[in-house]
Amino acid sequence: MNRLANKVAMITGAGRGIGAAIALAFAREGAAVVLAELDLEMAQRTAREIEGAMVAAGANNAGGASKVLAVQTDVTQSASVQHAVREAEQAFGAVDVLVNNAGINVFCDPLTMTDDDWRRCFAVDLDGVWNGCRAVLPGMVERGAGSIVNIASTHSFKIIPGCFPYPVAKHGVIGLTRALGIEYAPRNVRVNAIAPGYIETQLTHDWWNGQTDPAAAQQATLDLQPMKRIGRPEEVAMTAVFLASDEAPFINASCITVDGGRSALYHD
Ligand code: NDP
Repeated sequence: MNRLANKVAMITGAGRGIGAAIALAFAREGAAVVLAELDLEMAQRTAREIEGAMVAAGANNAGGASKVLAVQTDVTQSASVQHAVREAEQAFGAVDVLVNNAGINVFCDPLTMTDDDWRRCFAVDLDGVWNGCRAVLPGMVERGAGSIVNIASTHSFKIIPGCFPYPVAKHGVIGLTRALGIEYAPRNVRVNAIAPGYIETQLTHDWWNGQTDPAAAQQATLDLQPMKRIGRPEEVAMTAVFLASDEAPFINASCITVDGGRSALYHD
């Protein structure tokens, strides 16, 4: 508890899935959280759930101002992300932690992929991460403190045929993480990434449901896992708490893989 006390954290794509789990975990650790999400209604629902969980845990600030804020944000638009940062600052003060979590699957065959597929993928999965960094870095650099956590993927290191261009963008997220981590290390701003493997979210269910035999696709995924299960959003969130907190002051320009060992496996 309170590992993020007095911190203000903004999480993109926090309406559901991994982002929502990170927002809840951060709130439990005492942070004021800003859910910067495309779908405002979903973000507001999630914000109410987080507030409910905090009240149930006896952690509400006794009738004071809520420490959870939902802001409609499209990470593909730099002005939208900058607006979200201003809203966060007005509500809670300077943003100490940014989690660039919003992401979409764009899985194509390279030669049948449309230009629009390519642009859609990069707009969210790479430009979106940069737009977030660009919006918070000036303040962090000026204050000489800050932590950015980018949600990458095991696709940042490994390739599955037919998933193009998602892994290209996710490789870029690691490059961005390392480059910015080095640029701003002298100003005590840390930039790290988390590479989740299969995590049970809507994104994963949508992928299974898009296969000819969803149940068989799900079983095949489970069979590939060394731990014979896929991950839970909370398991990514715990890693994000660690990286965002003062427990990781010398971890910078790094990536932590959260995949139950899957990417270390050569073959069964
Ligand atoms: P979900 O699809 O469940 O959640 C993603 C959230 O991001 C949604 O709420 C979505 O909103 C939001 N979002 C999408 N586009 C934008 C945008 N332009 N601006 C703001 N928000 C946006 O995904 P996950 O929770 O599974 O994934 C989160 C991150 O983790 C992604 O970066 C993904 O690539 C990564 N990841 C996930 C893995 C998994 O197995 N689930 C594995 C490895 C990495 P809306 O629904 O309105 O579009």
